[in-house]
Amino acid sequence: MSETPRVAIVTGAARGIGAATARRLAAEGHSVAVIDLKEADAQNTVDQISADGGTAVALGADVSDTDQVTAAVDQVAERLGPPTILVNNAGVIRDNLLFKMTEDDWDTVMGVHLRGSFLMSRAAQAHMTSAGWGRIVCLSSSSAQGNRGQANYSAAKAGLQGFTKTLSIELGKFGVTANAVAPGFIVTDMTKATAARIGMDFEEFKKATADSIPVRRPGKPEDIAATIAFLTSEEAGFVSGQVIYVAGGPLD
Ligand code: NAP
Repeated sequence: MSETPRVAIVTGAARGIGAATARRLAAEGHSVAVIDLKEADAQNTVDQISADGGTAVALGADVSDTDQVTAAVDQVAERLGPPTILVNNAGVIRDNLLFKMTEDDWDTVMGVHLRGSFLMSRAAQAHMTSAGWGRIVCLSSSSAQGNRGQANYSAAKAGLQGFTKTLSIELGKFGVTANAVAPGFIVTDMTKATAARIGMDFEEFKKATADSIPVRRPGKPEDIAATIAFLTSEEAGFVSGQVIYVAGGPLD
C-alpha cells in the first residue's frame, strides 16, 4: 500500500537508529525533519536522504529544552508543513552501578529520554489533533526490564512505556496512535560505547551478544526503522498503546 505523504520528525537522527529511521520514512515518501543536537550532524542524514531522492531538512535542537523544542517544531511546520509523524528517538547513556551513579547521570538520562519525549510530543500533538491524524513512536528498550549499570536508563525506558500508553488513551479520539518500540541489541555508536565501558572489543561483544539472541545475530538500525515504518503507516491505525520488542527473540 503506498503511503499518503506526511511530515515526519525524527529526533536524534544524525546517526544510528534515528538516521536509519529518517531515511526509511523518506523512502516511504514522507518529508522528514532530522533533529539532532548539532544541525551540522543532522545535515549528514539529510544529505543521504537527498541523494536517495527524498525530502528532508536538518535542525539543531536539544529535545530536553522547552524553548528549543518549540522553535524546532515551529520551524518544521513552516518549512515542511504540520508534522503528523513523530519518532522520539534521541537518547543518551550514562551507565554506572548505583553506588557510583551521580545526580547528573540520573538527570541527564531522564532529561533526554523522558522530558525530551514529553516536550516533543506535547509540541507535535497540536498539529496532529488539528489534522485529525497522527503517529507517535517512542524508543523504549529491552533494558526497561532491568539491566546492570543502567538504573537511570532502565527507569527512563520503562517510564516511556507508561508515557506512550497514556498518549494512546488521550489522543486516540483525534486519530492519533502512540506506540513504543523496544529494541534489543542494535549495532550503533551507543552499543560501541557500552562495549568500551566494560573493556570489551566491540567485535567480541557483538559475537558474545549474538550467541544469546535466538536469531543468532545482533540487530541493525534498519530492523528498528522497518518496525517504525509499519507503526507510522496508514494501515497501523488500529495498533495503539503497544510496546513492540524488536530483539531477535521473545521479551515482554
Ligand atoms: P546513538 O547512535 O547514540 O544516537 C543517538 C542520537 O541522539 C545521537 O545523534 C545524539 O547526538 C542524539 N541526542 C542525544 N541527546 C540529544 C538531545 N538532548 N537532543 C537531541 N538529540 C540528542 O543511539 P542509538 O543506538 O541509535 O539509539 C537510538 C535510540 O534507541 C535511543 O533512544 C536509545 O536509547 C534506543 N535504543 C538503542 C539500542 C541499541 O542497542 N543501540 C537498544 C535499545 C534502545 P550526539 O551524538 O550529539 O550526542
